[in-house]
Amino acid sequence: MSSVLGTYARKAISFTEGKGSYLFTENGDKYLDFVQGIATNILGHCHEHLVKTIQNQSKKLWHVSNAFIIPDQERLAKRLTDNTFADFVCFQNSGTEATEASIKIARKYFHKIGKPEKNRIITFKGAFHGRTLAALFAASNPKHTEGFGPKVDGFDQVPFADHEAIKKTINKNTAAIMIETIMGEGGIKIVPDFCLRGLREMCDEHGILLILDEVQSAYRTGNFFAFEPSGIKPDIVPIAKGIGGGFPLGACLVTKKVSVGMTAGTHGSTFGGNPLAMAVGNSVLDILFEKDFLKNVKLKGKYFSQKLNRIKEKYPKIITEVRGAGLMIGLKLLVDNTEFMKKLMDYKMLTVKAEENVIRLFPPLIVSNNELDEAINKIESVCKDMN
Ligand code: PLP
Repeated sequence: MSSVLGTYARKAISFTEGKGSYLFTENGDKYLDFVQGIATNILGHCHEHLVKTIQNQSKKLWHVSNAFIIPDQERLAKRLTDNTFADFVCFQNSGTEATEASIKIARKYFHKIGKPEKNRIITFKGAFHGRTLAALFAASNPKHTEGFGPKVDGFDQVPFADHEAIKKTINKNTAAIMIETIMGEGGIKIVPDFCLRGLREMCDEHGILLILDEVQSAYRTGNFFAFEPSGIKPDIVPIAKGIGGGFPLGACLVTKKVSVGMTAGTHGSTFGGNPLAMAVGNSVLDILFEKDFLKNVKLKGKYFSQKLNRIKEKYPKIITEVRGAGLMIGLKLLVDNTEFMKKLMDYKMLTVKAEENVIRLFPPLIVSNNELDEAINKIESVCKDMN
């Protein structure tokens, strides 16, 4: 019997090696990995540049506390702010911590400007923001919150895409609206650009903040952030997953305006932003900033989606919708998604489920068209089998 606490229904398989888009078991079975952690390893498994970075940095310095200036942390923060809406970055270890920090920063801002009554956050049904108590009750998914009461107060939930409900819910106590730019666990549901602009307008009109959770979507759509095509500027953006390329790394990006409450001692992390993590984060950006890297993500995403749509048209009783942007893709199925995923595993391809009977496809951003074709063949084979 395993001594690991049973909080996961683990599949009876383990992997001993990974390279790019593939994982290998001890006995040499090769799997096409379109989960990549869960959307974390954006450069695939064991990317040469990241391997070298970890080798070199691990010989120099792993960890010092945030009581000291960490040059690579300064550099990563500067690179992130130079290329985004943000003025400051607060480093964490995970997405949950990054969303939790976002909530704290929003509340502290209003406290600092003399409006402490503005401390409630509007969130959306079907959202996922992480597993700490506040993040759990922010999303209020009964499957995740059951037995973990008392409820953490401070969140007002509205249905997804219901602008009227948001308008009705905003009151004198509202501090912010928090939403995933693309709802990941909820089923790869995009918040369209016109809605993002509508949310921004609503926030401006009421003097409240807009928090866009990009933990799952950052880098993956072929934009630095998924919200960028909308042209809006959020106030706070938590990121994680892809930004560490598989190394535990989270961050919260904020504007100068909302940062005013976060003075020395107001937040902290023992590990967040340590030299090893920062070296990796910088190396992920080295690749991401290479000429045409993000443009190619868009092109590959288009190529993949077009082929997936062709399968959908051929098997309308199996796939009802291809969702997503760039290389963050969901297939909404008419057959059971668990069954579909299992059959894909028989064809040696790994995917991950989401709500609304969706399976998510998270190829690494360095995936080749040949590997995308391989995925298409495997998906089509499963459709044929289940038709
Ligand atoms: N926010 C979003 C949108 C996520 O998708 C996730 C994880 O899936 C989280 C927050 C929590 O991140 P982590 O699991 O790194 O704590």
